[in-house]
Amino acid sequence: MDEPIVKTIGLKKYFRAGKSGLLNRIFRQEPPLVKAVDNVSIEVQSGEVLGLVGESGCGKTTLGRLISTLETPTDGEIFFTGQKVTRGNWKAIRRQLQMVFQNPYESLDPRQSIKSIVTEPLLKLGFSKAEREAQFEKVMSAVGLDQNFAQRRPKDLSGGQRQRVAVARSIVSTPKFIVLDEPTSALDASVQSQVLNLLVGLRNDFNFSYIVITHNIAVARFISDRIATMYAGQVVELGPTDMVLKDPKHPYTQALLKSVPTLEIKRVEPPHGEVPSLINLPSGCRFHTRCPYVMEKCKTQDPEMRKVGDVNVACWLY
Ligand code: SF4
Repeated sequence: MDEPIVKTIGLKKYFRAGKSGLLNRIFRQEPPLVKAVDNVSIEVQSGEVLGLVGESGCGKTTLGRLISTLETPTDGEIFFTGQKVTRGNWKAIRRQLQMVFQNPYESLDPRQSIKSIVTEPLLKLGFSKAEREAQFEKVMSAVGLDQNFAQRRPKDLSGGQRQRVAVARSIVSTPKFIVLDEPTSALDASVQSQVLNLLVGLRNDFNFSYIVITHNIAVARFISDRIATMYAGQVVELGPTDMVLKDPKHPYTQALLKSVPTLEIKRVEPPHGEVPSLINLPSGCRFHTRCPYVMEKCKTQDPEMRKVGDVNVACWLY
């Protein structure tokens, strides 16, 4: 198999919750540590779509930002087409990566024209005016928007059109890899499927690779080749979409799927119990405070990922 387009090894992102206040300084205490991403190792192959699912606050977006080089890891390694991302080369690598944010109402600058928003990445990369014009025409056509949108502002567009503009901006510099953070969650149900179909079409036409971050299993089912379930900063199950959805191994993935009885697009209801704080994580398996199958060893020993058939799962049941 070729070198993965993206690979992470033992990736961690810890940060301090809030600033060090006066009392903390007097008592020489650090603000608490948030373990947003904790020891995540994943790979995405060229042309592959990996769906990253889990409840809000499980670290999905932070992982996406790390992979997009928008955040610096606390520890661990990221490789892009086999090349390790370092302080010296991250700017060059970032040109080949893009991230599309959740809310098209907030992610587009309201003062800029659509043409200026879409072609801004090319301006930063030093493309000539003629090259920018040509790329603008190409990507607007690819995302199904008329050239007449060029001088309009985001406020003149519907939610679906704005997300198409966000996608056009993300592909204008012909990146190899795009992280899509909840790309449809701010859109009406009728527009969601249009944007998903657009993303599938673009992937087929341009061989893009995506990580699609979503709390919506139906979105992951529709678009992903493989699914990774994330819980409390860790990936707990990873495998081909059909297998994970037909026969989920990890009790957390099972709980997520119970809330999606049909193929229709539907919000994931949270499994029973509270999501643990990333500041004060449970010992052992982080899911043990909510797991119906909890055993004594689960409370003290953190299971590592192991292969179960074609799926990787971190659970003492296997
Ligand atoms: Fe449940 Fe134990 Fe598996 Fe964790 S390791 S998911 S607590 S059975």
